[in-house]
Amino acid sequence: MRLLFARPWRFVRGMATVADLPFATGGLEVAFAGRSNVGKSSLINALTGQSGLARTSNTPGRTQELNLFVPERDAGLALVDMPGYGYAEAPKDKVDVWNDLIRAYLRGRPNLRRVYVLIDARHGVKKNDEEVMTLLDKAAVSYQVVLTKTDKLKPGGTATVLAATIEAIRKRPAAYPEVIATSSEKGAGLDDLRAAIAAILA
Ligand code: GDP
Repeated sequence: MRLLFARPWRFVRGMATVADLPFATGGLEVAFAGRSNVGKSSLINALTGQSGLARTSNTPGRTQELNLFVPERDAGLALVDMPGYGYAEAPKDKVDVWNDLIRAYLRGRPNLRRVYVLIDARHGVKKNDEEVMTLLDKAAVSYQVVLTKTDKLKPGGTATVLAATIEAIRKRPAAYPEVIATSSEKGAGLDDLRAAIAAILA
């Protein structure tokens, strides 16, 4: 695990439309999904220890492609940064393109081993998170919920949100029963998430 995330990672390419989806690195994939601004880029950067890898932005909805990252020394694994969903102010035609892309990717990706569904610990599971989880349940794609930004909660707040989130996914067939609580800013939970990803390769 230390080796996997100690090596430098690099951006391979983005996939912006369904027509780009035949592209694959040949290895397994784990993908990161979540509402715009959930802290997805920050989490990928924190996991790899590379602050400039995934592009963070204060402009919600800026990451509109599926972006693939691999370690510089091949490990048979790619990380996939998915476009954020649920950005209310995005024009409808754009939203439709994202939705088609996300759906096509999640339904038909043979090497996709797990999706990490990121949930902002302050907001909990929202309607569009439920929709994505239902899509994953139907496609039988294994996923695990990751809480982000737990440093923004009051002391003791993480346990409450964790319990509520575990309850919210309890009956979902493709959901991993455990939820990982993280803070990219403070580093909390990152080793747990790294270990979970490394276990997929093992
Ligand atoms: P993305 O749109 O999901 O890729 O989200 P970003 O990674 O760009 O983060 C969105 C905003 O949340 C930025 O202002 C980040 O600085 C902030 N953020 C991300 N992760 C954390 C965290 O763990 N703690 C705190 N306090 N803020 C965070």
